[in-house]
Amino acid sequence: MNAQGNGKRRSNEVYDLRQELPSRADVVVIGGGVTGTAAAYQLSKRGKEVVLLEMRGVCSGASGRNAGQTGSGSSMFSRVGRAVYGLTRENLRLISEELPAELGDDFDLRLTGSVDIAQDEEMWNHLVETTAALQGLDTGVRMIDRYELQQLIPAASDALLGAKYAERAGHLWPFHLVHGQAGGARKLGAKIFPWTPATAILTGNGNVTGVETERGTIATDTVVVATNAWTPKLLEDLPAGALVPARGQILVTQPVDTVLPHAFGTNFDKEYGRQTATGQLICGGFRRFDRDEGLGHYTEEVVAGCMIGCAGCLSTLFPKIGPIRVVRAWAGIMGFTADGLPMIGPYDLAAGLFVSAGFNGGGFSWGPATGKAIAQLIAEGQTEFDLQPFDPNRFAGGGVSWDNPFTAGEKNNPRSVAEIQANA
Ligand SMILES: Cc1cc2nc3c(=O)[nH]c(=O)nc-3n(C[C@H](O)[C@H](O)[C@H](O)COP(=O)(O)OP(=O)(O)OC[C@H]3O[C@@H](n4cnc5c(N)ncnc54)[C@H](O)[C@@H]3O)c2cc1C
Repeated sequence: MNAQGNGKRRSNEVYDLRQELPSRADVVVIGGGVTGTAAAYQLSKRGKEVVLLEMRGVCSGASGRNAGQTGSGSSMFSRVGRAVYGLTRENLRLISEELPAELGDDFDLRLTGSVDIAQDEEMWNHLVETTAALQGLDTGVRMIDRYELQQLIPAASDALLGAKYAERAGHLWPFHLVHGQAGGARKLGAKIFPWTPATAILTGNGNVTGVETERGTIATDTVVVATNAWTPKLLEDLPAGALVPARGQILVTQPVDTVLPHAFGTNFDKEYGRQTATGQLICGGFRRFDRDEGLGHYTEEVVAGCMIGCAGCLSTLFPKIGPIRVVRAWAGIMGFTADGLPMIGPYDLAAGLFVSAGFNGGGFSWGPATGKAIAQLIAEGQTEFDLQPFDPNRFAGGGVSWDNPFTAGEKNNPRSVAEIQANA
């Protein structure tokens, strides 16, 4: 991510690329994003000797290319709401209380609340429905009308109907969290190897036996696959379509005075944005204007159509901001699952193999807590969290169908591209 955070100045982690690969480890974590570094930190806290392998730089995947929005829960998962809230609420506690105290960094977390904006009746009805489904879960989520929305965000358009307001949400600076976890893990003895792709997970007699890399083999009986979009490349038995790469794109504007005090989402969570601590506006989304709706691509490439959509989104929702220059844009690759839920837990291919991947568009509401859940499973044999809905084996043995209209199944969006373009 190119825009700058505004918190206290911290240095990113520096790695000696000549360090020798160890011949063995208690646990090998593959992937240096928010989930891999979380697992490495939480495992190290529990006394495990951890090696983390990252094929590029730490935080160079989706974790370094996102909008930094976070919070507990999601409108999309009311059917498994309790399990989602169990993990995401703990995530919020970790990033706002425990990790800042342990790692000496507040990650520029600002719990400003966020609004999920309704632009038409279809969206309004959807938001009302999903808010109602959360009743009894103590989520701090409620519907607000246009008047209240404009009290929160005066620049909001008079054409908007209102929003779902989530008080336990906001945004952070992703690099600080990911490098903070990596640094915390190293202080506890973990060894981190950037530019070291894992090329194969080795098994024998039904057990994990090691990890092969381009620089040698590490013997281990426990592996955490935290490679998100790249997971099908390592777990070749994963059914086609269970987890697919999905390219997301973001633009960032010149800095302006505070106009967006709250992070926002709209159009069934497909578009989103916020104002950074330095005053720049970030807006992402419009994957449906990308080639193949951004699905199946591993190239981190910006496409003009998405940028036009994002710029139009800002000026449609917040016309009172006025003309403002776009200064940068970037793309990142997310891991989208067929049902929109992440894959967290033991993987049946071999004993000792764990997966923590498929976080769709929301890994910063999950990563640190997921790392804790995986570490508990490995170090203590059980976890306090209900991981059943996130079982990574759930796609095995059956046809994979994309039935969640809000994430991977965006193709099912009842609104056609022409219709959306006409309204943008
Ligand atoms: C444009 C965009 C906007 C987003 N906005 C938000 C947002 O506002 N809020 C939010 O919560 N989420 C957002 N997301 C999603 C979020 O970024 C992801 O859900 C999250 O970063 C996933 O973290 P991760 O650690 O699982 O994956 P990643 O960060 O992708 O990490 C996986 C890592 O594995 C490495 N790897 C892959 N294969 C190998 C291998 N064989 N060996 C070694 N290393 C390997 C990769 O290089 C990568 O660094 C956004 C994503 C994008 C792209």
